[in-house]
Formats: sequence, C-alpha cells, structure tokens
Amino acid sequence: MGDYFERIVDVEVTGEEAGPLAGRMVDWMVGEGLITRELSSDGVYSLTVDEGYVPGPNWARAVADSSDPDWLPGPVAVIVGRDHHVGGQGADEAAYAVCPRCRNKTVIIDYPEEFEAKEEVWQPFKDGIAAWKETGEGSAPCSACGASVPVTQWQWEPDFALGALAFDFWGWPPLSARFCATLSRQLGHRTVEHMGKF
Ligand SMILES: [Zn+2]
Repeated sequence: MGDYFERIVDVEVTGEEAGPLAGRMVDWMVGEGLITRELSSDGVYSLTVDEGYVPGPNWARAVADSSDPDWLPGPVAVIVGRDHHVGGQGADEAAYAVCPRCRNKTVIIDYPEEFEAKEEVWQPFKDGIAAWKETGEGSAPCSACGASVPVTQWQWEPDFALGALAFDFWGWPPLSARFCATLSRQLGHRTVEHMGKF
C-alpha cells in the first residue's frame, strides 16, 4: 500500500503550548483506544520524528471505511515544534499565498508553466518563516497593499501549512471527517489536513 501518511497540523498552537498539548492529545487518543503508549519506528518517515504510537484496539473509529480486514494501520507520529509542513510529494515552497488584509494572491510557483519557486518572490516569505521557526514571530510584506503580515496569518495553498504540532498517521485508511473535526475540537484550534507519500 506504500508509505503514505495523512497529517493533521494544528495551525494555531504556539511553540510553547505545543508540548503540553501534545501530551494531553496522546492521553486522549490512548483513552479512546485509537493508539497505545507503545512506540514503534515501523513505517514512520516523518521528518523530525522517527517513531510513533502503535494503533490501539479502537483505531477503526477514526477512519471513514474500515471494511478491509487486511488493512492494518501503522504508528501515529506526534511532531512538536514550529515547522512548515507540506503535503503531496512536497515541494518545500508554497505555490501561493493570499494576503488576509487585501486578498491579493502572490504566486510563488507559476503552475503549470513552471515547477520551481520564483526565488525573489519566495525569499521574503522564506525569511519570515525562518524567523518564526527561530523566535515564534516572523512576517512577510504583501506586495499589493504593503502590509507586513505575520507568516501564520498568510493564507497558504492547501498543501502548505505552518504549525507547532502535527500528527502523522502512517498507513491509515482515510480518516473520517467526523474524527478530524473531533480532533480539531480536542485541540481547540484550527487544523489543516495533508495527504502525502514518503
Ligand atoms: Zn495585502
């Protein structure tokens, strides 16, 4: 079935809150029987974490369709720390970003004509993201309205997200919309979902 993941990124939690919140979320998922406290690196290819929690007896409650008896999901990696997350095959740059003030869309990768980021357009975003990773604060200017917008407020293309807490479900059947909504409610924050392949 390949080495793929479904990821849920908390895009609102601060770097300081992320660790304690991760602990509470693991407690909650263990309590629900979705995962156990046993860790395994089997089939985990997350960038900064090399092991995850083994599925629990009730894992099927989180997925949309558990009718395939041969489908056994892999571990759930919990990623703590301010980082950028990409879905799909994962370019490291966002294809575009929309300014929350003036709604102007800054195109960074001009698909389908081009497949690489325009360096001079991406650079201010890259710098802002680097500062945010380092300190928790970083901005990039909007070329249309001139506002200096925090990188956590720019509206990125769907496959690009900034967050300090993420959950990688390795090899799980597609998670149900209900479960994703419940997880987001437990977090108390807005989330972004990605699918991707290692
Ligand atoms: Zn703007």
